[in-house]
Amino acid sequence: MFKCIKTKKSVLNNDINLFFNGHKNGKNLLIIGTMHGDEPQGAQVLNSYLLENSPQKNPLYIIPCLNPDGYDKKTRTNANQVDINRNFPTKNWELTQKDEFYGGSSPASEIETKFLINCIDEIQPDLILTIHAPFKIVNFDGNAQKESEEIASLIGYPVQKDIGYPTPGSFGTYCGVEKNIPTITLELGEDEDFNFQKEACFKIIKYLCYLD
Ligand SMILES: [Zn+2]
Repeated sequence: MFKCIKTKKSVLNNDINLFFNGHKNGKNLLIIGTMHGDEPQGAQVLNSYLLENSPQKNPLYIIPCLNPDGYDKKTRTNANQVDINRNFPTKNWELTQKDEFYGGSSPASEIETKFLINCIDEIQPDLILTIHAPFKIVNFDGNAQKESEEIASLIGYPVQKDIGYPTPGSFGTYCGVEKNIPTITLELGEDEDFNFQKEACFKIIKYLCYLD
């Protein structure tokens, strides 16, 4: 059974929660949903996963919704109009113009970014999965090619190494490249049936939960 082991209030007083299945042995996994508020798929799929009694072996940590303020407002950014996926303290973080990719006034300026950094420091995950939309691809940073290929074949998506545009201050660069933690980004579609997405993600989580 999952328990909420860490929580933080967002700017608009929503809870950002970290759940854990309590398992002690095996690969430490962290799964993150809805970093971008206009991509609700991750939170919806992970919240339904938390309600099911799926079997797991490995220690599994889940943050179903990293950006609850954006989720409520259906915006990519958080309540401060910052793109959390450009706010991580990477070597390539940069002060940008205030559009929907605004990386914040300084690296890790946002509650959501700090919460996730703290979770990672405490959990020391062996592998991270983040769920985004809408590209229908599996992308990865760091040493995660094998697992990415397996995940892609499980759900019929291609693996795409390069997303095609620069992403300064991104979570993938922070964790996968600079902290050397294999980090997989699953990009679900916008036009897919929820049951398809749920089944696809449950298959992926099951695969990760029994990885040696
Ligand atoms: Zn996204």
